[in-house]
Amino acid sequence: MNRRQFTITTACGLAGLATACGRKNEVIDIHQHLSYSGRNDVDFLKHQETMSITRSVLLPAASQLTMFSTHLGKSNGLAAGVSVTEAAATYAKNHPGKFVYFCNEVPDKEDAVATMEGWLKKGAVGIGELKFNMPCDADPMIRIFELANEYAVPVLIHFEHEMYNLGFERFHKVLERFPKVNFIGHAQTWWGNIDANHDQSVMYPKGKVTPGGLTDRYLADYPNMYADLSAGSGRNALARDPEHAVAFIERHQDKLCLGTDCSDIVGIGEACSGSQQIANLKQFSPSTKIQRKIFSQNARRIIRFA
Ligand SMILES: [Zn+2]
Ligand SMILES: [Zn+2]
Repeated sequence: MNRRQFTITTACGLAGLATACGRKNEVIDIHQHLSYSGRNDVDFLKHQETMSITRSVLLPAASQLTMFSTHLGKSNGLAAGVSVTEAAATYAKNHPGKFVYFCNEVPDKEDAVATMEGWLKKGAVGIGELKFNMPCDADPMIRIFELANEYAVPVLIHFEHEMYNLGFERFHKVLERFPKVNFIGHAQTWWGNIDANHDQSVMYPKGKVTPGGLTDRYLADYPNMYADLSAGSGRNALARDPEHAVAFIERHQDKLCLGTDCSDIVGIGEACSGSQQIANLKQFSPSTKIQRKIFSQNARRIIRFA
């Protein structure tokens, strides 16, 4: 070992300098799924590698149940054939250093909290994505947020008007009730509401954004509210108004996390919304310092990576 190597090794031993020693090019994807619309594990791994993702968060589906909260079964598997927590746990275990996993369960299943607690004890690092037909502040959801509070893990929520996690306009009450739980907002209603003039029935709004929508305010006013940039909704939110995108990224630079949530097998080009969003972020981030926050540092602040 020469002197330079020794110096680097010593410096990297100090936790505070870890970022300078190897995480500079880290790209964390906080939103992906196994068995996503039939994609196999080999294609999934290739997809993540093609996008140059270094670490991914696996979000599993809940049990297959015919309940009102799963639209009588139609929304089982996160409505995309996604596999359950056990599959995510096994996959993460088999790919150490590359994948971590959250846990999931149908909120109003009788033993939902106990089941998720079991997974949190075994190593799940978060809860979600929660994508069920019930109010975002319903009693079963509150019990899940209490669990997240107890285990100090984040909760990722899919907000979609009249479909999943209803009552987005009341979510500030949850943020106030659980100030120590980090919530990560995702999907159409989350991203549509960056715009103060958002029509709640429109899933992928186009054109200029008027700042000050609910999402903009939740991010500005609540330290425990974060944003997941994944999927067509996240991509659209930036692409619809590039000028706004730059300002939005600037003002929420400590709250935005890269996620992809795409089910393609190519990992590149127009068919892959994740790679397109990565390109958007490289284009719209005001500095490489901010880009690094979005690509890795913000996620590291709220998710425990091994
Ligand atoms: Zn998803
Ligand atoms: Zn993709």
